[in-house]
Amino acid sequence: MNIHEYQGRDVLRAHGLPVPPGQVAETAARAEAIARELGLPVMVKAQVLTGGRGKAGGVKFCASLEDVTTHAGNILGMDIKGHTVRKVLVTPAVDIAEEYYLGMLIDRRSGQVHVMASAEGGVEIEQVAADTPELIHHLDVDPRFGLLDHQALGLGLKLCPGEVKKARQIGAALQKLHAAFVDADASLAEINPFIFTPDGEGLAIDAKVNLDDNALFRHPEYPEMRDRLAEDPSERQAREADLSFVKLSGNVGCLVNGAGLAMATMDLVKHYGGEPANFLDIGGSSNPEKVVNALRIILDDSEVKAILFNIFGGITRCDDVAQGIIQAAEQIDIDVPIVVRLTGTNEEEARELLARTDLVAATTMDEAVQKAIELAGTAA
Ligand code: GDP
Ligand code: MN
Repeated sequence: MNIHEYQGRDVLRAHGLPVPPGQVAETAARAEAIARELGLPVMVKAQVLTGGRGKAGGVKFCASLEDVTTHAGNILGMDIKGHTVRKVLVTPAVDIAEEYYLGMLIDRRSGQVHVMASAEGGVEIEQVAADTPELIHHLDVDPRFGLLDHQALGLGLKLCPGEVKKARQIGAALQKLHAAFVDADASLAEINPFIFTPDGEGLAIDAKVNLDDNALFRHPEYPEMRDRLAEDPSERQAREADLSFVKLSGNVGCLVNGAGLAMATMDLVKHYGGEPANFLDIGGSSNPEKVVNALRIILDDSEVKAILFNIFGGITRCDDVAQGIIQAAEQIDIDVPIVVRLTGTNEEEARELLARTDLVAATTMDEAVQKAIELAGTAA
């Protein structure tokens, strides 16, 4: 789960990182009132679940209340990489002498938290990573010991050679960021930039935190942070319907039970020269309602020219699924061909149900996949 900068700032602040205060506004008038309270100058910052806001014009310095009204008015409603801005953060503007990058993520290969830090922080960090990767320092954290003092200070000194006071602040920030990362069950945490003011005060002025969905049950407070409006609509619908769904760019919509079978189905679609429109696992014990939801989500994608059901009935009863397909067909307007391969528990009953419809039945997986690709091709 991605969270907004202002929420990420709260997580960091709670772990003792030096984060300037701030509040969010949904209207220009509210932004102005916050600025009045905080005192000028302030930054008005788009809150969207994507990076690169500064470059897109979503982060503005405001010297006056008029500036706040103007910029908040412009930023609210702005589109940043397909995300509509619905909230802005108003926070005191700080004087920046230097910008650093501090980040961490889970390195799946080593199974450890991987720390990255660079003295070349700021909006060009992607460019730094691409052109001069040697300017980014790396460290793996042994989970038995955490991020030790000497490691953190060592990284600080790499970023600020000979400047012990700054190096200490960076070291302390990294250790707090690591603690926040572990406590929050984050999969990614970045401060870009961590800045020094001309007086040498270190501050975290941006926060990007991704929380691991699989650990959300350990954080009853986090679901409130989910911004439903800001998420991808089809992935949100899928999550709410308890389906695991990933949108892809092809034209064969796939509706499969079991993640392994879903992947095998996608492989087979590719094998026969087709392109899957999605990964969708309707789960082990599917019911008609779930099938209806799944079909709705797949049909929302106008690229989909054919739908392929591949159901292996074990716990899932094939007649349940057939019932779901028939119900869905009655409830929603399905204007693409549907190929169904049902096998396993109650497949006879399922076949009888489907025989009364105009769905294309297939017996083997190969046959089903080839038929779906062919129908998607003729429809396109
Ligand atoms: P991002 O573009 O989405 O990463 O948004 P950031 O919060 O990182 O802001 C982008 C850039 O705006 C930063 O790298 C800074 O250069 C600048 N910026 C952000 N806050 C301030 C501030 O308080 N004062 C000044 N002078 N610049 C700021
Ligand atoms: Mn940033």
